[in-house]
Amino acid sequence: MLPEAGSLWLLRLLRDLQLAQFYRPILEELNVTRPEHFDFVKPEDLDGIGMGRPAQRRLAEALKRHRSGLKPKNWVYKILGGFAPEQESTPPSNRPPCLPEPEGGLKCLIPEGAVCRGELLGSGCFGVVHRGLWTLPSGQTVPVAVKSLRVGPEGPVGTELGDFLREVSVMMNLEHPHVLRLHGLVLGQPLQMVMELAPLGSLHARLTAPAPTPALPVTLLCLFLRQLAGAMAYLGSRGLVHRDLATRNLLLASPRTIKVADFGLVRPLGGARGRYVMGGPRPIPYAWCAPESLRQGAFSSPSDVWMFGVTLWEMFSKGEEPWAGVPPYLILQRLEKDRARLPRPPLCSRALYALALRCWALHPADRPSFSQLEGLLQEAWPSEGRCVRDVTEPGALRMEPGDLITIIEGSPNSTIWKGQNGRTFKVGSFPASAVMLTDLAGSPAACPVHRGSPAQGEQPPGSIEGDRKKEKLRDLPPARGQRMNIPLHRMKGISKSLESVLSLATRPTGGGSSPPELRQARAVAQGPPGLPPRLPFASSSSQPGQPPRERPPWPKREPPPNHPMGVPGATKASVSTGALLANPELQRKIIEMELSVHGVTHQECQAALRATGGDVESAIRSLKVDQLFYLSSRSRADCRRILEHYQWDLSAASRYVLARH
Ligand code: AMP
Repeated sequence: MLPEAGSLWLLRLLRDLQLAQFYRPILEELNVTRPEHFDFVKPEDLDGIGMGRPAQRRLAEALKRHRSGLKPKNWVYKILGGFAPEQESTPPSNRPPCLPEPEGGLKCLIPEGAVCRGELLGSGCFGVVHRGLWTLPSGQTVPVAVKSLRVGPEGPVGTELGDFLREVSVMMNLEHPHVLRLHGLVLGQPLQMVMELAPLGSLHARLTAPAPTPALPVTLLCLFLRQLAGAMAYLGSRGLVHRDLATRNLLLASPRTIKVADFGLVRPLGGARGRYVMGGPRPIPYAWCAPESLRQGAFSSPSDVWMFGVTLWEMFSKGEEPWAGVPPYLILQRLEKDRARLPRPPLCSRALYALALRCWALHPADRPSFSQLEGLLQEAWPSEGRCVRDVTEPGALRMEPGDLITIIEGSPNSTIWKGQNGRTFKVGSFPASAVMLTDLAGSPAACPVHRGSPAQGEQPPGSIEGDRKKEKLRDLPPARGQRMNIPLHRMKGISKSLESVLSLATRPTGGGSSPPELRQARAVAQGPPGLPPRLPFASSSSQPGQPPRERPPWPKREPPPNHPMGVPGATKASVSTGALLANPELQRKIIEMELSVHGVTHQECQAALRATGGDVESAIRSLKVDQLFYLSSRSRADCRRILEHYQWDLSAASRYVLARH
């Protein structure tokens, strides 16, 4: 067979060295057709085709001479050579020179015939990914994923090729349990990366899988976050920035293991500031990007931390798209000017959301590092408990004795908690008395949880110190009204959600996927006289993620004598629920009210229902007016007017009145 025109140089070179017998094996088994391809050839590969070490050294010397006479105009050399981590210029004498073996080693240069491609797994920006089977020289087969570079009619497209080769050069140097492993490269047409197969696909696909696929357990999401923080800390330690962290780029290697993938946008961090600044306009994942990336094209480990926060948000939002419906050019304005942040997803505990807010600190230096995040995640880990009785009340999360329940929201002041049933994976609210918390070691606590027992995640967003305290709180429930030295009567008006608003002074909420704030804002352009126009996003005037400001001193206002909190001893802990349990309809109404107006007692709900002739909607509104009334120094009529303006969003109304204290 005649040599291919493109590989004549190889035949000549080998002939000069009297190694012509290796022409076919090098061409066909190692798939080398250009001098630069030898960059990927390891001594073992040449051993594999039967070339002895002295011959390898002769070949390496000849290649060096050959390449020094060539201009580095080959596309592989130009792109990969310009980026690949430093390679030895004077290799150790005990191995053949000029066959540089990158640190960590490209595991293998894989002959094209050794990989057979199967079904299509997915497609990315610069290639398609197939399931494949790689046959090792021993005959053993390994299931793999094969990413092939998409080739246009005129060959590979410049930036796609560059990204593809960068991905190879980055991956071949990485070795971490939560980083996708590159097995080798096929120097064929098209170029192919042979990677570890993640048989369960991307985390995003799993998060958005339709019913009957159950939701992922909250504790598993936390585990994934810990794995991700570990992998990202490792990447940072290698001086790399990922720039495309998102659930679509996290692959499930097993049901409980994620791997970071897609290194096409990875760049080395340079300079004293440890940043990479984009040279020109290139597509970047806007909604995941930190403000400095959007403004200056600057990427760094802290900008990856920002993306980690968005990835956390995606995980707890069942894969929703961040800032959906917000035009990309407005995202930066929302983040910087309005200080808007993605809202807390329903599955996300307050402690975890506080952690996300820290990742979204405006100034990169204020964000935690990935190593710190590993520790912070541990502290924000959700509590778990065992169900101690059948819960069948209408509207409540169904559970059976023995079910493992992950607590998403629970407070000493609340009789209703929110959690996830580990058996059914359903999320919902349930009577706190139905669950016995397990201790940190995982063994059931000695006594069942009573309504006063606190649960994790009740500290205000942004308060990491608060998170640290939660373990203590769990052991020692504070008496109602003792927390933060707030007089008992003032506690009346402060619901769980309001506390977080008050403590942070500015609770960032905002965009997200079809955010209600945005929808409302579009519908309500102008408010009634005397009230400010509503912003599309609730904004924060202080740095999100920073420790909460001191709560402002409360204006005094005594509860009226007929108010439940005005009755000595009428705390939640003392309210009997026995009568309520006997009336399922009443129970359902009260659960609905408690969910709508956090922090209200059964007694208050009953009183409000009585006053409104059993109409739940009116009762909820009247409770909200009460809450705002006790929170502010305004009249009830004023409170009602403000609530109406904010479409009965108590948090928004509270922020408004507090801002005007
Ligand atoms: P990428 O080009 O890396 O963005 O990959 C595109 C899609 O292919 C991903 O979203 C995954 O669904 C799938 N994919 C990529 N790599 C693998 C792999 N190693 N194992 C399984 N699926 C993969």
